[in-house]
Amino acid sequence: MKIAVSACLLGEKIRFDGGHKHEHFVTDELGKFAEFIPFCPEHLAFGTPRPSIRLLRHDDTLFVQSNKDQSDLTLRLMETSKEELSKISKEPLCGIIFKSKSPSCGMGSAKVYLENGFCEGKEDGVFAAMCRERYPLLPMEEEGRLQDTWLRENFIMQLFAYDAFEQFKVCNPAINELVRFHTVNKFILQSKDEKLYRELGNIVANRDNLTFDIVLAMYELGFKTAISRKSSIKKTRNVLEHLAGFFKNELTKDEKKIVQSHINDFADKIVPLIVPVSTIALYAQKYHITYLLDQTFLNPYPKTLALRSHIDAGK
Ligand code: SF4
Repeated sequence: MKIAVSACLLGEKIRFDGGHKHEHFVTDELGKFAEFIPFCPEHLAFGTPRPSIRLLRHDDTLFVQSNKDQSDLTLRLMETSKEELSKISKEPLCGIIFKSKSPSCGMGSAKVYLENGFCEGKEDGVFAAMCRERYPLLPMEEEGRLQDTWLRENFIMQLFAYDAFEQFKVCNPAINELVRFHTVNKFILQSKDEKLYRELGNIVANRDNLTFDIVLAMYELGFKTAISRKSSIKKTRNVLEHLAGFFKNELTKDEKKIVQSHINDFADKIVPLIVPVSTIALYAQKYHITYLLDQTFLNPYPKTLALRSHIDAGK
């Protein structure tokens, strides 16, 4: 999968002061499964090193201003941001990771100043704003928020689900394959957005006999929207209970107790999500419940990322 990333997060010495902000989770962990497309609109505009810049609001308009001589650098940075956007648009992207707080790359975290020098809030940086407009459904996150294990888990799950849909789409699927795709993703969707999960089921059922192209386009919009939603402990617990319901008649009394206690311990934040998920997968295997074993919810991304092993990866 291809992911566009702020070049400084990849360790490139490209920041205004000639430094970098190497993000090891991105390069060392995610890098095993992704190819990165670097971008840096500021380096392209002003070279490295360069004077730092800031966002300035004047008469309800945002400007980019040099911190060195207060010159207006808005047009130049917009030009190079468009160039970088055009470069990454040539790639079949599955996501973008931005450097936080930057006037170019920050996602809602770039400080905006008033002429009196006061900070009046935070907005998207120039390049991040363009990306949001160009790619409303693409997984995007900034490195600052990826330090939060819950947001990181949600983002990585979204990335891999998005990639799965893109791979599915290029195979020219037919309606029965879409039904299959929806079936194996049911619980991941339910853990994100119960209402959209049900709507997607109706789209796949196609009671209005729409053409497959229309059905697929409607499904894509709903699927990509649903996976962008954040899961929660409550929603995840519902899904776990639902999954456990599939083999309630097969389990012995003691096995039922084990499953239930692991779900309860997860909901009480005593054990991480991997504990009830592994228990459910184990019994699904023991009792040959293939419908459950096929569910992407049990393995939404490579195990080595180990994001479900963190106790605070749920809220
Ligand atoms: S413009 Fe973006 S990629 Fe370039 S140094 Fe700043 S934060 Fe990093």
